[in-house]
Formats: sequence, C-alpha cells, structure tokens
Amino acid sequence: MDKIRIHNLKVFAHHGVYEAENQLGQMFLVNVEASCHTRKAGCSDALEDSVSYGVMAREIHAYMQSHTCQLLETVAEQLAEMLLLAHPMLESITLEIRKPWAPVGLPLDYVSVEITRGWHTAYIALGSNLGDKEGYLQAGIHHLKQCSQIMVEQVSSFFVTEPYGGVEQDDFLNGCIKVRTLLSPFELLEKMQEAEYASGRERLIHWGPRTLDLDLLFYDQEIISSPTLVVPHPEIPKRTFVLEPLAELAPWLRHPQTGLTVQEMLQKLQTGHLS
Ligand code: ATP
Ligand code: CA
Ligand code: CA
Repeated sequence: MDKIRIHNLKVFAHHGVYEAENQLGQMFLVNVEASCHTRKAGCSDALEDSVSYGVMAREIHAYMQSHTCQLLETVAEQLAEMLLLAHPMLESITLEIRKPWAPVGLPLDYVSVEITRGWHTAYIALGSNLGDKEGYLQAGIHHLKQCSQIMVEQVSSFFVTEPYGGVEQDDFLNGCIKVRTLLSPFELLEKMQEAEYASGRERLIHWGPRTLDLDLLFYDQEIISSPTLVVPHPEIPKRTFVLEPLAELAPWLRHPQTGLTVQEMLQKLQTGHLS
C-alpha cells in the first residue's frame, strides 16, 4: 500500500503522569505513516482524491494541545482513531509519539510509543426466532451502527429457515452483514453480545430459541482459536442459512483454512460436490 508520511512534527503539549508535566508542558515529536491508495490522486493531481498531510498535521497539533493525557499510549490511541475516522481514505496508520524531555532522570535521546491501527472487514451472521424477528435483526444492526468504530457497509436479504440442532422451536429469520471496523475481533464480539443482550436475549438452551443471535463469521483473513472466540466460525461450511445470505454479499470470499469460496461452500452443501 502507498504511504504518506509526516516526520518529527513538533508539538508543545501537557501530557504526562507527573503534575509538573501537566502544568509546564514539554515538546513532543510525532511521526506518522499513513497507508492509503494514492494512485487516483497521482493520476488526477487533485487533492480531494488524496489525504492531505497538511490537514492531518494541523489536526494532530490541535488535538494534542487541547487534551491532556497521562500516557503516550492514550495520546497515540486517540489520535489514530480521530485520523482514521476523519479521513475515510486511510486504510491504516502508524503513529509514533516521542518524548525527548521525558523526566526519567537519566541521559537518553527520547522515549516513544508506536502503534498501528486500521480498518478491518468482518462478516456477521444474524438470526432470530422469537417475537418480532425482523425487528430484532434490524435492532441488532442499529445497535452496531451506533458504535463510531463500526461501519455497516452491506446488509443481505433476510431468509426464513427451519430450526437447526434438533430443538423443537419456531422458524428462524437469518441474514448477514458486512462491516468495516476499527475494533479488534474480541472487541467486536463484545459489541455483538451487547446487541444480543439489548434485545433481551437469554441463553437458556444451546441452539434454542433466541431473540437475536450474532455470530462473527470472518474477520479479514484471520484465524483465531480461543476459548471465547473461534474465527472463521467453525459451522460456516455446514450451514445453508449462513452461506445463502453471505453469498449475496461476498460469493468470492475465500475461507482462509479450506481455500473454498462462499459460493463453492454453498454449492458443495446443496449438491454434495463442486461442479
Ligand atoms: P453456534 O456458535 O454454533 O451458532 P450459538 O450461536 O447458539 O451456537 P451462543 O450461545 O450464541 O452459541 O454462543 C456461545 C459462545 O460462543 C459465545 O459466548 C462466544 O464466546 C462463543 N463464540 C466463539 N466463536 C464465536 C464466533 N465466531 N461468533 C460468536 N460467538 C462465538
Ligand atoms: Ca449461532
Ligand atoms: Ca452465537
């Protein structure tokens, strides 16, 4: 990916753990490496097709001067989020904040914190089989949209499907969404569970009736195996009710472990083989 850099932007600000730092202030140096596609701007020669380093530098300067944090970690985290939200063309950003006058009491050139943050693409399955099912699915989507770090980019049609897992219960309404998010997979799962609880979801029987169920299907091409989160969701290849709506959004999307596309997984499930 192309890079736009700002090197050693000097900002006099008041961040630090010590009261003296908050009162007197000191110099900070900020390094930015912004990843984005510059091809369009390179061909059009128009600033609106790119990300302005001048605007970014002024935003960093204004933000650091108008806030006081104890930790460089916090300054970096807040700056990264602010810049990624303000400039949708940015895919990711690496920010290093240096403190040359850090009150350490030992000779050193500087201390610094560097972080990289960026947008990720995730697919989430939605399901409901209690009460106003469509209302619950829409409320789930609305709940996620309320989070500034989640952009809901696409919503599939909703499909009526028969229950799964051998529990006697009402039909399901199932769908899928594509989101662009700044959250980590675990933070995203937390937001999804928050939406489930807001719909009054109770976990009574495994695979039993529920107002709202949100499952994280894919998160970029990441593979995660942990006690609370498994990605890609292990049941994807076995579930028509997941693959059908997902195929509307991303038939070409490849499973990072099997290499099969969503369309191929669906075909295999429906016909037993790939043509
Ligand atoms: P299934 O996951 O087979 O569809 P379920 O949706 O009925 O079953 P839940 O009771 O909703 O299961 O979730 C049980 C736990 O699964 C959650 O508490 C969560 O920590 C964990 N989990 C693991 N991987 C995922 C994932 N990819 N998406 C959502 N939850 C997950
Ligand atoms: Ca589920
Ligand atoms: Ca679930």
